[in-house]
Amino acid sequence: MKNKVLIVGGGMVGAAAAVKLAQQGLTVTVLETHPLDAMQALTDETIDIRVSAINRLSEALLDELQAMPLLRNARLAPYQQLEAYEQENNSLLFDCEELAATHLGHIVENRLIQASLWAQFERLGIKVEQVSGTPQAIKQNTDSVELIYPEQSYQADLLLAADGGRSVVRKLAGIGVTGWQYQQHCMGVLIKLDAPQQVKTWQQFKPSGPIAFLPMQYPYANLIWYHHGNELAQMTTLSNAQLKQEIQNHFFDLPGEFEVLQSAVFPLARQHANQYHQGRVVLIGDSAHTINPLAGQGVNLGFKDVAALASALEGAEDIGNAALLRRYEQSRRNDNLMMMSMMDACYFGFSNEIAPLRHLRNLVLKVANHAGPIKREVLKHAMGGVV
Ligand SMILES: Cc1cc2nc3c(=O)[nH]c(=O)nc-3n(C[C@H](O)[C@H](O)[C@H](O)COP(=O)(O)OP(=O)(O)OC[C@H]3O[C@@H](n4cnc5c(N)ncnc54)[C@H](O)[C@@H]3O)c2cc1C
Repeated sequence: MKNKVLIVGGGMVGAAAAVKLAQQGLTVTVLETHPLDAMQALTDETIDIRVSAINRLSEALLDELQAMPLLRNARLAPYQQLEAYEQENNSLLFDCEELAATHLGHIVENRLIQASLWAQFERLGIKVEQVSGTPQAIKQNTDSVELIYPEQSYQADLLLAADGGRSVVRKLAGIGVTGWQYQQHCMGVLIKLDAPQQVKTWQQFKPSGPIAFLPMQYPYANLIWYHHGNELAQMTTLSNAQLKQEIQNHFFDLPGEFEVLQSAVFPLARQHANQYHQGRVVLIGDSAHTINPLAGQGVNLGFKDVAALASALEGAEDIGNAALLRRYEQSRRNDNLMMMSMMDACYFGFSNEIAPLRHLRNLVLKVANHAGPIKREVLKHAMGGVV
């Protein structure tokens, strides 16, 4: 039986894959440059500025992986409404009540998601190895794959690249990418809010790029500000008090007084691997696809990769079998590509001031807000197809 998996990268997606595949009886080793103390992270009061909007399908996976109870004990914020608008009197509002659901998704800190998965490792016999430096080569033969570092090497039946957008494993496997860097960058701002727990996330489209409000567990929230890279670079030189002033000039709809705690700027890229597997090497999460975070879908897509890969490998005699890996790629490539293209349509369609386009956008928002059945379908899709 060939059932030894080596996972490079224990971020949210790599860790979810580790837990899911170990639950299916595979022998799993995770190589990580920055191992996490799960229990410390889950009880730490320090708030992670990196947050993700997790849809209902991802929630179902995290439940299956026994991570959700830990997240509920730590910090998370369910959101019930999602609003998109350009002009304030013309918005598209999605409400979970339209589908008789309790919530549309959750906003959760990335480090907590990762920790809630790492907390399962010991129980499932998942081995973690801290690695420093980058691997130098991958050697493959029909029977196994070997990842070679200067001082040591690791052998497995399947090598999973979960090492993010700049994946070294993908490069060593000779898999190229297609994509580009967006002109806009994105600033995340962690704030402490003097208002009751918020349940609505909203996004306003502006010509310079969207701004968004993500409610976290009381009393915190995350503001997302898209703008040209050099404008945001300028903003990183401001003090928290000056940044607050800038925010007050741009974010009109904040529900109360607030304090800026932290900010960080992220470059944005679209990138899609030309293949998802090569021999016994397979890509998941951001190593396979990096998407504009406009609608917060990156990790949700990564979790779908995990579920699809686990389903393809379930009960296999040889988990490196090319036909199984092809099945995985076939089930994920188009879905990932479609989401990337939808995000680009929004990005390019909304980030401009061309008058006819502005009228069209507002018309679309108005019509969509009153298009009952279509709106419900879009809503189901945003929730990950789970109601
Ligand atoms: C501003 C912003 C906002 C976002 N918001 C959302 C959102 O709301 N919802 C959503 O679904 N997605 C969102 N995303 C996308 C989401 O953050 C990514 O899709 C997600 O982090 C990808 O997870 P990953 O585990 O594939 O990769 P990563 O998070 O990049 O993890 C890679 C892991 O591999 C490790 N690693 C890297 N190289 C090596 C190596 N050589 N050896 C060993 N280990 C290695 C790293 O330490 C890390 O732990 C957002 C992204 C950005 C930039």
